[in-house]
Amino acid sequence: MDEKLRQFFSSLDRSFFVDEPYKVLSSLDRPLPIGHGQTISQPSLVAYMTEQLELNKTHTVLEIGTGSGYQTAFLAEFSGKVYTVERIEELRRKARERLDFLGYRNIYYRVGDGTLGWAEHAPFDRIMVTAAPKEIPSLLLEQLAPGGIMIIPVGPQGWQELLKVTKDKNGMASERKLLDVAFVALVRK
Ligand code: SAH
Repeated sequence: MDEKLRQFFSSLDRSFFVDEPYKVLSSLDRPLPIGHGQTISQPSLVAYMTEQLELNKTHTVLEIGTGSGYQTAFLAEFSGKVYTVERIEELRRKARERLDFLGYRNIYYRVGDGTLGWAEHAPFDRIMVTAAPKEIPSLLLEQLAPGGIMIIPVGPQGWQELLKVTKDKNGMASERKLLDVAFVALVRK
């Protein structure tokens, strides 16, 4: 892992992103409930996905599935701007409180169906999807900039492949499987 990422990873207290009674479990490398039947991934997977996104400070990032805001903090730390979409208002509100408290001013929040992306701010240099659709949503692929990277779990409920989708300068997309994963489903409107 990159040194800056490693440092940030060890400095960010995951207990801040979960509610009681899960705070005591937050140092374990395992997923945890965040309410509404949703979960936060194990920290090692969040760090790995962040690394695979190959971020820098010039990047504009779209995140689908704000959840607790834990992954959002990584994106905000290592990119220029983050547009994050969450379908559950209460999760969006709590994530925003936490990330505001931590001092992040480069995050823009929206409640809605992330399958649609966020057309007004497209194209995005990077897209991070943390809930799993059965197929790559076509609008997300459309909103990925040439030269862009998207990390997305794709597959049926309970088991998916984590894909790294890259778009070349001419707009041709290709994908590579990184891992087998189990994310919650991306729920369409
Ligand atoms: N990355 C989060 C965990 C996300 S869990 C974290 O670090 O905590 C997946 C999240 O995706 C849940 O909060 C769920 O409500 C959200 N979600 C599911 N379908 C969605 C959709 N269509 N649009 C936006 N968010 C969605």
